[in-house]
Amino acid sequence: MISDDDIKIEFRSDVTVELVKHSAADSDVLFAARVSTLGEQSLDELKKDPERSRGLINYLMRDRHGSPFEHNSMTFFISAPIFVFREFMRHRVGWSYNEESGRYRELQPVFYVPDASRKLVQEGRPGKYRFVEGTPEQHKLATEAMQDSYRQAYRTYREMLDAGVAREVARSVLPVGLFSSMYATCNARSLMHFLGLRTQHELAKVPSFPQREIEMVGEKMEAAWAELMPLTYAAFNANGRVAP
Ligand SMILES: Cc1cc2nc3c(=O)[nH]c(=O)nc-3n(C[C@H](O)[C@H](O)[C@H](O)COP(=O)(O)OP(=O)(O)OC[C@H]3O[C@@H](n4cnc5c(N)ncnc54)[C@H](O)[C@@H]3O)c2cc1C
Repeated sequence: MISDDDIKIEFRSDVTVELVKHSAADSDVLFAARVSTLGEQSLDELKKDPERSRGLINYLMRDRHGSPFEHNSMTFFISAPIFVFREFMRHRVGWSYNEESGRYRELQPVFYVPDASRKLVQEGRPGKYRFVEGTPEQHKLATEAMQDSYRQAYRTYREMLDAGVAREVARSVLPVGLFSSMYATCNARSLMHFLGLRTQHELAKVPSFPQREIEMVGEKMEAAWAELMPLTYAAFNANGRVAP
C-alpha cells in the first residue's frame, strides 16, 4: 500500500505559458495586404511610412479583412489543468496542438488548487454568470477537499501502475484538475478569435464570460503577442476585440 509520504504531490494555482517559437510581426500583415494592390515588394518599403501602416492595419481590422492576419506563426508551451485544455481544444481553426501522452509516460502528480484571489461563488444565470469572493471558510473547504481528493486519486493511480496495470487504463481515475502540457501553434487571426472568447476586457464590444483559468492562459498569450505585433494588437483593442 502506497502512503502519501511516498508521493510528492505538487499543488499549483497558476499556469505556465511560454512563447517558444515565433515568426510574427506587423510587417507580415502589411506585406500580405499590399500584395493585392501593389504586387511583390520589399519589406523595407513597407517600413517607410509607419502612419500609413498603422492606418492600413486598422482599416483591415475594422472592415474585417481577416486573411492578412494569418501570415505569421506563434508556438506556445502551455502547462495548465486538463479542464482548461478541454476548453482550449474546442478552438479548431488556425490552431495546431500536441499534448503530453498519458499512454506513453507516467503522469506527474501536479494538481490545480485555486488561490485566495480566485472568486469562488457563482451568481446569475447561465451565459451571464458573475463571480464573487468566497469566504475564508469556503476557500479552506475547497482547498482541503481538492487536495484530499487529488491525493487519493493519485495514490490509486500509482497502486495500479505498481500492480502492472497499463498507464492508459490506470489514468481513468485521475481528475481534470491534473496538470497537462502541450504545444499550441496559432496565428494572429486565430489568437484574436480565441482572446475575444476567452478573456473579459473592458474594450470588448461583445462581452464573453470565460472560466477564469483559461483566461489566465489567454492573458499570458496576449501579453507575448502584444510585444510581437503592437500595431495589430492596438487595432484589435481599438475595434472592440472582435477577430477580423
Ligand atoms: C464562455 C463560453 C462558454 C462555452 N460553453 C460551452 C458549453 O457549455 N458547451 C460546449 O460544448 N461548448 C461551449 N463553449 C465552446 C464554444 O461553443 C466553441 O466551441 C469554442 O468557443 C470555440 O469557438 P469557435 O467554434 O468559434 O472556434 P473555432 O473552432 O476555432 O472556429 C473558428 C470559426 O470558424 C468557423 N467554423 C469552425 N468550424 C465550423 C463549422 N463546423 N461550421 C461552420 N463554421 C465553422 C466559425 O465561424 C468559428 O467561429 C463555450 C465557449 C465559451 C467562450
